[in-house]
Amino acid sequence: MRTDDEVLEAFARVRKWQAGGERAPHKPLLLLLALSALQRGERWLAYREAEPVLRRLLVDFGPPRRQVHPELPFWRLRNDGIWMIPEGEALEKQVRRRGDVPPAVLRSADARGGFTEELFEFLRERPGLVNAIAARLLEAAFPDSLHEPILDATGVSWTIDLPRRRDPRFREEILRIYERRCAICRYDGRLGSADLGIEAAHVRWHAAGGPDSPENGLALCSFHHVALDRGALTLDDELRVQVSQHVVGAAGIRALLLRHIGREIRRPQAGNPVPAGVHLAWHRREVFRGLTRVGR
Ligand SMILES: [Zn+2]
Repeated sequence: MRTDDEVLEAFARVRKWQAGGERAPHKPLLLLLALSALQRGERWLAYREAEPVLRRLLVDFGPPRRQVHPELPFWRLRNDGIWMIPEGEALEKQVRRRGDVPPAVLRSADARGGFTEELFEFLRERPGLVNAIAARLLEAAFPDSLHEPILDATGVSWTIDLPRRRDPRFREEILRIYERRCAICRYDGRLGSADLGIEAAHVRWHAAGGPDSPENGLALCSFHHVALDRGALTLDDELRVQVSQHVVGAAGIRALLLRHIGREIRRPQAGNPVPAGVHLAWHRREVFRGLTRVGR
């Protein structure tokens, strides 16, 4: 790797192992942690220390799963040409049939993971390139609304603006068919003649292959957009709002979330499609933090 473009390509080639619309944020989140360490001048992440942090990130920003496996990206990144585990060769004997090493083995060997030396030295001199890599990792795996919370949680510091992907036609179409009003709370505030905090949300994330079409869109206020992207709420097939049992708080959550439980969204103007079942099902499976609250 000799040029910035070659490095960007090496990160873009990192293999995802899931298919069929399943989200695979494991490697991106680990790479963001490693970039954050690099910004502090540290090459190695000790598995013992990284494990609880990565576990937390997977719970907060990964798909809802009964079990999370921080050991998988830590071990599997070695096959992507940018990552090494100095203790790795000694652990080869303990590789299981699927090609993974049990987390207890990584812990007891005090395994460390980090970028290859050449890459580490290359990136250390190029803070702008580190930003660009982080931006692409975020862009490829998460919606815009999650970028800042993830940067905060991984400790990546930011020196230039995030490049944003925007499709103004999608936004305009969604706002028009929903009459520039939040489909959940009906908020429709304006400042002068411009919308104030009304956004076009993707049900199935763009980063997960969701299309820019009304079958995959909803007009939402800024708060309900974030709540949808974070999995605090979702919709059932009858377009009724469901709220996660993981949402807690004292002030405001009744007014902002709980009172909408079981209510149908406000539909788009006649003649326009509502969000498709296949995208709603994806959101419930890959984003929504079940279990569902049953009462208000
Ligand atoms: Zn709203």
